[in-house]
Amino acid sequence: MLKYVWAFPATAIGLVLALFARTAGASAVVVDGVIEVAGGRFGRLVSALPHPLRFSAITVGHVVLGIDHSVLEGCRAHEQVHVRQYERWGVFFFPLYFGSSLFEAIRGRSPYWDNHFERQAREEAARAPS
Ligand SMILES: [Zn+2]
Repeated sequence: MLKYVWAFPATAIGLVLALFARTAGASAVVVDGVIEVAGGRFGRLVSALPHPLRFSAITVGHVVLGIDHSVLEGCRAHEQVHVRQYERWGVFFFPLYFGSSLFEAIRGRSPYWDNHFERQAREEAARAPS
């Protein structure tokens, strides 16, 4: 329970995004204690974003937003690692994540692929039983 409270400031932002997604026709399901929101016009809107903002799935606290539910199913293990990261770092996850991206960008590396939290999510998801 405490992990939900600790991550709630981030989850609150996720819920606002989820509300927007719902107004764009996305549907929501709860899987393993996480709200997954995807589909409808929301998926098409996200796909039409300029490249740096585009995503197939994004985790914000205990909310995962995606272009469609099959995509979310495919990357669930990865996004669940991000949920655990929010549970660990709470609202501090935002500055830590963007700080890591900035640090890697300054080093001339990818702010996404070389981001500490993305590498951790890929490694842990690869080890997770599917
Ligand atoms: Zn990720």
